[in-house]
Amino acid sequence: MSHFQDTFVAQSAAVRVRFGAGVRHSVAEEIRALGCRRALILSTPQQVTTAQEFADLCGPLAVGIYSNATMHTPVDISDAAAAYAVQLGADCVVAVGGGSTTGLGKAIAYRTDLPQIVVPTTYAGSEATPILGQTENGRKSTLTSPKVQPEVILYDAELVRTLPVGMTVTSALNAMAHAAEGLYAQNRSPISTLMALEGLRAFRDGLPNVMANPHDLTARGETLYGAWLCGTVLGQVGMALHHKLCHTLGGSFDLPHAETHAVILAHAIGYNAAAVPDLLAPITQIFGGTSPGQAIYDFAVKMKAPLALRDLGLKETDLDRAADLATQNPYWNPRPIDRNALRQLLQAAWAGDAPAV
Ligand code: NAD
Repeated sequence: MSHFQDTFVAQSAAVRVRFGAGVRHSVAEEIRALGCRRALILSTPQQVTTAQEFADLCGPLAVGIYSNATMHTPVDISDAAAAYAVQLGADCVVAVGGGSTTGLGKAIAYRTDLPQIVVPTTYAGSEATPILGQTENGRKSTLTSPKVQPEVILYDAELVRTLPVGMTVTSALNAMAHAAEGLYAQNRSPISTLMALEGLRAFRDGLPNVMANPHDLTARGETLYGAWLCGTVLGQVGMALHHKLCHTLGGSFDLPHAETHAVILAHAIGYNAAAVPDLLAPITQIFGGTSPGQAIYDFAVKMKAPLALRDLGLKETDLDRAADLATQNPYWNPRPIDRNALRQLLQAAWAGDAPAV
């Protein structure tokens, strides 16, 4: 069956994507192609060695390194980084890292309009979206702006080989969540659906091979391909219950980003399955099993993903407040948000049980 819809709007960002093991060696060429000559390289403190490798690859085209990228993009760090970019006379940024470093590049672009080259080293997918999440005074907010959409993405599987196995799995499930929720998004199109399904297939096929050999470049490439597709879906369509729950648990209980996505995904999909059985049936076809929630849960078990919110530091006594918060200002969702059902979902996710289907 095709993914035809009677009506739809499909909008794609103008992004140049270069893909391939070793493609980072083209970074100077890409800076010049943008008409730029003064790149500021961005990283986290943990990845400063990789940032230095990029500065070396850029040679005279690199004017500095800012290596203070931080999870959840704190506004004060973004302000300091943007001021540093202006002080150096930078005319573009090269963000090398996961969603935190990409977020910093986006925050600089939002403030300065500088073009961005992003070199992702996780599967989070932020590089493919016009979305910027930031934190200020302990509160996370999100904005969407074309200014924030990166212009160039270099997907180099060699850089993802160092991602530890545990983070590899949680980051992959983080990416898969964008695709899974994209399947029932109100503003989905046949193209976003095609990308979502292909992204899920890429993780189904590639992730077990990465787990067997984290240095397998073909498998790393296949999962990176999945990350691109899933991130592109996130950039094109709206997200629902799964992302609301993860934002609530991350924002109000300080749970880690990718791990929380990994635990919640099977439960959120299980919650929505009965409301949109046709739209979620492909998940069961792709991963096997009896229902979409169970299929994702079984895949997560096989990949040795974290399964329980209690293992991420959430207390059982927090569950009532989490259910209350997740019920407030809900995102659109295919199944109405029922506080009691959500509380049960959270209990199962807290304990690490299989999702109710
Ligand atoms: P991250 O960028 O915070 O990285 C986690 C840690 O892993 C960091 O210390 C980083 O330096 C290290 N790391 C990254 N790649 C590595 C590699 N290949 N080898 C060794 N170490 C490596 O984690 P993340 O999950 O990629 O990003 C999470 C952040 O991204 C969150 O703030 C989230 O909100 C944001 N995000 C935003 C969007 C969006 O569209 N705006 C989408 C997804 C995620």
